Amino acid sequence: PLVIRNLHKRFGSNEVLKGLSLTAHQGDVITMIGASGSGKSTFLRCMNLLEQPDAGDITVHGEPIAFTQKRGKRVPADWKQVERIRARLSMVFQNFNLWAHMTLIDNVIEAPTHVLKQPRKQAREQGMALLDRVGLSSHADHFPAQLSGGQKQRGAIARALAMEPEVMLFDEPTSALDPELVGDVLKVMRGLAEEGRTMVVVTHEMDFAREVSSQVIFLHDGRVEEAGKPHEILANPNTERLQQFLAPRF
Ligand code: ATP
Ligand code: MG
Repeated sequence: PLVIRNLHKRFGSNEVLKGLSLTAHQGDVITMIGASGSGKSTFLRCMNLLEQPDAGDITVHGEPIAFTQKRGKRVPADWKQVERIRARLSMVFQNFNLWAHMTLIDNVIEAPTHVLKQPRKQAREQGMALLDRVGLSSHADHFPAQLSGGQKQRGAIARALAMEPEVMLFDEPTSALDPELVGDVLKVMRGLAEEGRTMVVVTHEMDFAREVSSQVIFLHDGRVEEAGKPHEILANPNTERLQQFLAPRF
């Protein structure tokens, strides 16, 4: 459902993405690894146009995103299209971005009722089922401040799922969590992978990458340095850079 070709992005004179391509078919789990600053977050943010790529094609479920030139800058031609596409690519961030002034269930049903125009009652029923899935049905009426980091992150996943997205984008969903809370979040993500969700996941969790992903992409300095099946590239990295990246640090 998601095809990206030859994506470029620069911030001023800093060329951050230097021609990145990625294809996620239905049910693929693509994990993206790489050193800090290699461009992982920028790549994810370009996928749903939180950042505007300078060049490259993005196609979601067969629909190419249209761009146009405005005052020498490349911008989306149709922001209505961007909104529509964004609704199909839900993103889960590192720092659980639940709205602090809303209860958990209200966080979950906000977009379905406002963007998808679902009736409130139906959205609520569906939202409660999603909270149940991530183990939070008893916390539906809690505010984010009353939740642990792991609960907030599982809530953010439920909120992303409520949009029935084509593809879920995860940017280091567990790296801000205390170690003992990581497992519950990864378990939810494994469940999503098992039910055939299409996911692009930036992560440092190598066990997750090894066991769950259909493809691993190793980014270095804005380029794909190495990519392949997890058991191939993680067990037998070809490039010295990936060998170094994977080497245990003492
Ligand atoms: P990390 O593992 O630390 O999250 P990353 O691989 O996600 O790193 P990015 O956040 O994509 O890396 O950053 C890639 C490069 O782009 C960095 O050099 C960063 O400083 C730069 N960059 C990212 N966002 C911006 C921005 N909004 N303005 C200017 N430079 C940016
Ligand atoms: Mg990042």
